[in-house]
Amino acid sequence: MNYTSTRDKALKVSSCEAITKGISSDGGLFLPTEIPSLTADDISRLVPLGYKQRAKDILARFLTDYTPQELSACVEGAYADGKFSSEAVAPVVNIHDGVNVLELWKGPTCAFKDMALQLLPHLLTTASGKLMSDTQTVILVATSGDTGKAALEGFSDVAGTKILVFYPNDGVSPMQKLQMTTQEGSNVGVCAVQGNFDDAQNGVKAIFTDEAIVKKLRENGCAFSSANSMNWGRLVPQIVYYISAYCDLVASGAIANGEKINVTVPTGNFGNILAAYYAKRMGLPIKKLICASNANNVLTDFINTGIYDRNRHFYLTSSPSMDILISSNLERLLFELCGRDDACIREWFGKLKAEGRYEVSDSVKSQISDLFAAGFCDDAATKAAIKDTFEKYGYLCDTHTAVAVSVYNDYLAKTGDDTPVLIASTASPFKFCSSVLDALKPGKKESSDEFGMIEELEAVSGCLAPAQLKALKGKKVRFTDVSEKENMDRAVFSMLGITE
Ligand SMILES: *Cc1c(COP(=O)(O)O)cnc(C)c1O
Repeated sequence: MNYTSTRDKALKVSSCEAITKGISSDGGLFLPTEIPSLTADDISRLVPLGYKQRAKDILARFLTDYTPQELSACVEGAYADGKFSSEAVAPVVNIHDGVNVLELWKGPTCAFKDMALQLLPHLLTTASGKLMSDTQTVILVATSGDTGKAALEGFSDVAGTKILVFYPNDGVSPMQKLQMTTQEGSNVGVCAVQGNFDDAQNGVKAIFTDEAIVKKLRENGCAFSSANSMNWGRLVPQIVYYISAYCDLVASGAIANGEKINVTVPTGNFGNILAAYYAKRMGLPIKKLICASNANNVLTDFINTGIYDRNRHFYLTSSPSMDILISSNLERLLFELCGRDDACIREWFGKLKAEGRYEVSDSVKSQISDLFAAGFCDDAATKAAIKDTFEKYGYLCDTHTAVAVSVYNDYLAKTGDDTPVLIASTASPFKFCSSVLDALKPGKKESSDEFGMIEELEAVSGCLAPAQLKALKGKKVRFTDVSEKENMDRAVFSMLGITE
């Protein structure tokens, strides 16, 4: 199977190349030239297997230039016993009637990005070994919080890689800062940037494309690569968990093999829900893909009208990982729906860049309304969903998951469609203690310190906080460097031990 680009469908590269490069040089995103199929018989065969076995089977359908032995080693490394706090890796929990939650936060950082970022380093080093060997892969990340920590955990002590993370000095939560600055591993570097997230991201982009810097790295046996969510190597691990969750529902008798389910996903960059779309395209019996947004509801409007318009107010919400106005992975969906017409994509995304707005064709609009439903909720409704779900069903969810729960409840009330549903849960509630406590005990929070709040939430909810978060308490801070935004290149050289 080959991979092509959303902006140049004549391009053909292997999956190894797509994963190593991350993004196509024409500015497009890589995707497979054909979508492998998954039959009811395939599902029957997967049902009795564990997560890792299922992952190997599904990945092999997309990554045909990796050998089964290579994929097996990648999967065993990523989801090794002890890395995820659940043996099921991504367990499905029934909260009531036909409502099931897919918990994607059992990994080292307690958020769903671990599902992909634990696997990507293995896919990447295997690929670069096959393609060019001997070169050390240098991953540069600019982060507003969650991605940086998940990438650090994923790449920590992976041979043949170094990872350098830049975060805005005053733009991440105290817990996120602590998670990053205490990171262990001999190949990791973390540096604060005097500025905001955009400054950090612009600095990283400038370094990536600076020819003098790239040359200097090459002379030292290194090459940059990216771990951002546009990389196909982050998308493909996400397809696995939807298929695995379906198998779990069949195994538990909640549904029969072949029966349709709905899937609801709290969405930001459109990566997670796109993976569910690919699972459906493969043949997984999914009826509706329900896209849930917070107050930054650019996707709700797009799915309902076919007009994407980022010219709007940007809200800071209690579900910060979904505070996004440009959902990069939407480009892949539109490429599929417009009949893989790269000229269309170049036109629409050219308009997005120039005017911040584009409108898709009628044919794409009608396919979108067949496939998707969309809704959004504000912070007050998010809080209400946390409180309501806990009081009625004893299930504690984080703010992002609560957005999905709230949007699903609206969908059910509006359509009466009570098909069994799988709601993607993207973070541990203990990662967003302050907001979750506010929802359960409005105005009565006692502690202001992160660890105090963890204990308070444990007491209020009767749930135990993940050990990974509690363990941060006495951990030694390893990284204290702060860089001017103009001097991030120096920070890169210094972390890599290259003299200028
Ligand atoms: C990244 C993230 C999301 C959004 O996922 P996308 O793939 O960007 O749509 C939702 N919830 C949490 C907790 C996240 O970290």
